[in-house]
Amino acid sequence: MFLIFGWRTKAQLLGTVLMACRVCGQPGNLLVVREVTRLSLFFIPLIPIRTKYVVRCANPYCGAGTGVSADEARRLLATGAGSTR
Ligand SMILES: [Zn+2]
Repeated sequence: MFLIFGWRTKAQLLGTVLMACRVCGQPGNLLVVREVTRLSLFFIPLIPIRTKYVVRCANPYCGAGTGVSADEARRLLATGAGSTR
């Protein structure tokens, strides 16, 4: 008997916030994304093993992502803007 297992990360767009990018400094819409990594067995995603919240720059020349906490992501989406520390 053999097992086929692995990890799979799916990104889900939660919304956008209007603020300046921390990396390139360009003001604009930043994407708030939730990335969930799941343990998969026989290519079927089963158990979530990691959840990460990322604020990603929409500038195609930058595209930088900054990790934020779940609370910070919720606050950014509720207020529409803020600082990522
Ligand atoms: Zn940027």
